[in-house]
Amino acid sequence: MTKINGIAASNGIAIAKAYKLVMPDLTVTQATIADVDEEVAKFKAAVEQTSKDLETIKSVAAKNLSDDEAAVFDAHALMLGDPEFQGQIEAKIKDEKLNGGAAIETVATTMAAMFESIPDQYFQERAADVKDVSRRLLANFLGKPLPNPTLIDEEVIIVADDLTPSDTAQLNSFVKGFATNIGGRTSHSAIMARSLEIPAVVSCKTITEDVQDGDMIALDGIDGTVIINPDEETIQAYIQKRDAYLAEKEELKKLVNEKTITTDGHQVELVANIGGAGDLPGAHDNGAEGVGLFRTEFLYMESADLPTEERQFEVYKEVLESMGDKPVVVRTLDIGGDKKIEALPLPEEMNPFLGVRAVRLCFQREDIFRTQLRALLRASVYGKLRIMFPMIATLQEFRKAKGILMEEKDKLVAEGIEVSDEIQVGIMIEIPAAAVLADQFAKEVDFFSVGTNDLVQYTFAADRMSSGVSYLYQPFNPSILRLLKHVIDSAHAEGKWAGMCGEMAGEAIAAPLLIGLGLDEFSMSATSILAQRKLINSISKSEMDKLVEKALNCCTMDEVVDLVKSTVNI
Ligand code: PEP
Ligand code: MG
Repeated sequence: MTKINGIAASNGIAIAKAYKLVMPDLTVTQATIADVDEEVAKFKAAVEQTSKDLETIKSVAAKNLSDDEAAVFDAHALMLGDPEFQGQIEAKIKDEKLNGGAAIETVATTMAAMFESIPDQYFQERAADVKDVSRRLLANFLGKPLPNPTLIDEEVIIVADDLTPSDTAQLNSFVKGFATNIGGRTSHSAIMARSLEIPAVVSCKTITEDVQDGDMIALDGIDGTVIINPDEETIQAYIQKRDAYLAEKEELKKLVNEKTITTDGHQVELVANIGGAGDLPGAHDNGAEGVGLFRTEFLYMESADLPTEERQFEVYKEVLESMGDKPVVVRTLDIGGDKKIEALPLPEEMNPFLGVRAVRLCFQREDIFRTQLRALLRASVYGKLRIMFPMIATLQEFRKAKGILMEEKDKLVAEGIEVSDEIQVGIMIEIPAAAVLADQFAKEVDFFSVGTNDLVQYTFAADRMSSGVSYLYQPFNPSILRLLKHVIDSAHAEGKWAGMCGEMAGEAIAAPLLIGLGLDEFSMSATSILAQRKLINSISKSEMDKLVEKALNCCTMDEVVDLVKSTVNI
């Protein structure tokens, strides 16, 4: 039995077998082979195995994914079966006596580069197909098959170095939790775990080495610990802890239809962060009073193709209709940083979180941006839509984004398509430059939503993915509280509202402080809503005002946390 400490990233307890999601090393070196026939036979066997794998993945994926999403595997099968592709590899083996692994790699690289050089979306996507299918083929050729998380059919806990948001999006309901080597509370894999309502522990450093496939694991997403091969007594203790956690969750359900209102009558809105229509049941079941952040980038991760205007329209309409007269804040595409999409390969950057990300990318690819805005505008008549631009640093950026939105609106109206006149247009405050200038921004936007995951990383210059600097994720540091005060006061001075959609909004310690600061809307993983409501319903605004006065004058985050804990029972 071994205990590993990590960072608690998503609440809950899971006890299941480990499934290691570790990519094998597929490095090949060029060599001359002696037996050409044997190498060709080995290559053909790998093609056959890959074809079988794709069939199986497709049939399983078809149950969990939409037709469009499952069709990706058809594209891969087509590429694999392409006589030109196979012929070129065989020719390299036969004519050049090149070893099969190097032959696969050389042909795949040349073919992908050829597709990539054609500036057309269709060919960019084919390049991604070639890379994907060749990796699977090479893995089979080398006898190191790739793990297939879509095929998991028994309860497991995933163990991985990190899970990308697109890996996380593919997990099925047999996955009971995950533990990773790297990551922090605000990395996107952690955020997805919370929306999937599965426990997760991140930043376990060497968990992929410490655990063997099939080892029993007790995963504690409340305390951030992982026990490998627990003894019977430990398993029983965790079963009890899990049951207590589930019982508390059940108790909180009583608050589903309640308002969120302090003991002295100050009401706020608790809304949900969602990544797609699939998160709607969770939002409703947890008493969300709307959606405060729809991270639309997950729509773009569903398949190797960019989502069409029609596909996006359908999803936005579904979300808006499902929420009825409750507000839905949709954030425009925020790709970059740790979020990558297959359909839009981005150039490597030294500092991806500081590079061409979010709205910056949308300005480079206005075609993609305009498609999304049109879909949103068309859907606006089906509910209470609010549109929000991410990663705004300057007023010019906001004006430009809004200008493009208005152009698309005018075009739609000219085409005779109905668009709501009541769409609020706001920005995320996640870059310190925007927070500092919030008084000027407030004159032009309809609302602010503070993205503390990024605001904290940019204020402290500490990468949110790096466990080495995770101690600098300090949302309760007085520096952040002062920025928040300025942002919220600036919004109110112009009669606008201020919300928060970073993970801070769902943290217990934050609730008293944010109530004192006057935050209007708290947007969080749906699973945090009821606990936060219970807490806010037990405190008084006037006392929290006094608490915040003191907190703003503290020197360190620890002082703030102690102050909150000594005032409120948390
Ligand atoms: C944030 O930065 O706080 C935020 C909500 O956006 P994301 O986590 O998607 O970057
Ligand atoms: Mg952000």
